[in-house]
Amino acid sequence: MRLTTAQPDDGLVHDDAELSAPPAWTRGVTRVAVLTGAGISTDSGIPDFRGPNGLWTRDPAAERLSTYGEYLRDAAVRRRAWQARLSHPAWSARPNAAHLALAELAGSVATWIITQNIDGLHQRAGAPAERVLELHGTIFGAVCVSCGDRTDMAGALERVRAGEDDPPCGLCGGILKSATIMFGQPLDPAGLARATRAAADCDLMLAIGSTLIVEPAASLCAVAADAGARLVIVNRDPTPYDALATEVIREPIGTVIPRIAAQLAG
Ligand code: ZN
Repeated sequence: MRLTTAQPDDGLVHDDAELSAPPAWTRGVTRVAVLTGAGISTDSGIPDFRGPNGLWTRDPAAERLSTYGEYLRDAAVRRRAWQARLSHPAWSARPNAAHLALAELAGSVATWIITQNIDGLHQRAGAPAERVLELHGTIFGAVCVSCGDRTDMAGALERVRAGEDDPPCGLCGGILKSATIMFGQPLDPAGLARATRAAADCDLMLAIGSTLIVEPAASLCAVAADAGARLVIVNRDPTPYDALATEVIREPIGTVIPRIAAQLAG
């Protein structure tokens, strides 16, 4: 494992050859699996969860809003969750340089984008929807926990704005939630199976902006490494999978991902 900690202001002198030569792990890559976490969207104004300015760092009680059992049990949690959805930064967020670079990469190299994010920014950046696997669902949908009816989040939020503080399912009256995976909820088995196949079949697994502590998403890194793929981790902080990695990169995501994507496409 090689640890890269180069920062623009680290005071080290890099010669041009070192900066421009593509790393060996970019060579001969024809199938890429990307796993993205909250860290890729912070440049788009969507706070992460556990970082210094994270949602749950600032307000530990907010984690209850994403806990399935609490959500079902406690109407006050649901009312708060609906208010949080109303003001979610995803509605106005724009894809950043890293999202755009990955979308472009998907146009030139066979790429699966497996994401733990619910913000839709990979698709908004232009990544083909069929190549994006939203492991933890999407905030753009609403789903009934009783009958499974699925609708647009926009419609549900209209009802909240109109005064329903915990709008029930329009079909059966059951509890409505965002079409996201909360803690305590299983992942969609078909989606997880596709992501596992993508991880097992790639030459390169790029894990970007994920703390790699939420399973089963994080273990896709082990699936890829066990199958012989190179694993490259781009994250500000250490992760439990760093020891498995071909390279660990701590540079800012918005700088390093466009560079890696260009090297892979080139
Ligand atoms: Zn229903």
